[in-house]
Amino acid sequence: MNIEALYILYTKNRTVSTDTRNITPGSLFFSLKGDNFNGNEYAAKALEAGASYAIIDDGLYYKNNRYILVQDTLKTLQELATYHRAQLTIPIIGITGTNGKTTTKELLNAVLSQHYKTYCTIGNLNNHIGVPLTLLSIKPDVEIAIVEMGANHKKEIKGLCAIAQPTHGIITNVGKAHLDGFGGFEGVKEAKGELYDFIKSNKGVIFVDGNNSLLKEMYLCRGIDQAVRYGQNEDNEVSGFILSNDPLLTIEWVSAKERRQLKTNLTGSYNLENILAAVAIGLYFSVSADEIDLGISSYTPGNNRSQIIKTAINTLICDYYNANPSSMRVAIDNLNLVHASKKVLILGDMFELGANSLEEHQQVVNHALSIPVDRRIFIGKEFDALKTDIQAEFYTDIDSAMSGLSDNPIKEAMILIKGSRGMKMEKLVPLL
Ligand code: ATP
Ligand code: MG
Repeated sequence: MNIEALYILYTKNRTVSTDTRNITPGSLFFSLKGDNFNGNEYAAKALEAGASYAIIDDGLYYKNNRYILVQDTLKTLQELATYHRAQLTIPIIGITGTNGKTTTKELLNAVLSQHYKTYCTIGNLNNHIGVPLTLLSIKPDVEIAIVEMGANHKKEIKGLCAIAQPTHGIITNVGKAHLDGFGGFEGVKEAKGELYDFIKSNKGVIFVDGNNSLLKEMYLCRGIDQAVRYGQNEDNEVSGFILSNDPLLTIEWVSAKERRQLKTNLTGSYNLENILAAVAIGLYFSVSADEIDLGISSYTPGNNRSQIIKTAINTLICDYYNANPSSMRVAIDNLNLVHASKKVLILGDMFELGANSLEEHQQVVNHALSIPVDRRIFIGKEFDALKTDIQAEFYTDIDSAMSGLSDNPIKEAMILIKGSRGMKMEKLVPLL
């Protein structure tokens, strides 16, 4: 079946599914394959659950004309998304970067949705499957869409841009993450730059942190002339600074016409950039200053992305949604800036750093030692390999850290908890 014919089937209901536990009646079911599953095996179940058609790529599973046999289901999903995108005449804002993509996307959606009918990536659906699913969820009445694009190897962003065709783009920052997949930091820079390459060749607009010298170099060397700059210095079109961080941020933002104070539900001085990005893009799309402030102040981060939890005995900065050397550094800096009489760092291993892993962990240890805190607790094999008699506690895994904390509890402190997702740092929370 060609894409035009498949698209007609899609437009009957405009929903697609890839998971039989979550079938919207009338949707097209795409039988995707993973390392441990073969979606073709679930096609019959999806049809029983109410899917209109099942797209399969293994003829063995074909039973009747509600099965559509293609060569490669994933490729067909991507082609359908590309075709759908081409029917939409709306601006699509592509967001990539090492850290802060989801936060910036959520803030931006909170701002733009005050004024427009918007659609944005749900959660973190930002890869070669998530981006097509996001696009296929954009209904005809949507006026602006925001698409998060993640990558852990080169050419991935290029491929996602080919599908999503962003008219506007933002790289939040370029830092150290997935270093093994990208082949080092230069690789990260090249990979994120694929968004700028796409925007330039399509004469789109980028939004750029004018105080980030790396991003500045990246867009200037490409000769991109349509750039809107935001950042801490007043020579940016939108600038801003932190008024207080205790631990929630109150900021002031400034544009040619406005100077506004804004109370947020975010912690982390690094979130200033994410907020200013949302302000700058909001203003660019003619959202009023009142609407912008309303959008940003209504956003509360979830899912352990710099989330504040007050327990009976401590205040926790739960930042263990993910961790990499760049976000570790700024999170430690933030704890240093926050006002609290007692502070504790609990840091877990960072994954996917390849050959640089030990060196990067050492730098985090050094940085943690450079700020005044009451206790420093490092958890995981990588940190443990660096154990010395420095002023810190080391545990090889989360379970031994739990017993250590039970024996020697923390009270009345501001505690930063951060580590890679797989470290399961959340297990510590009941003890804090
Ligand atoms: P992922 O790659 O997992 O999709 P992401 O880029 O979407 O991550 P977020 O989920 O927004 O990032 O934030 C994850 C964590 O990154 C935050 O909890 C915080 O520690 C850190 N972070 C957020 N914004 C920034 C920033 N501007 N600079 C550095 N670190 C940041
Ligand atoms: Mg994300």
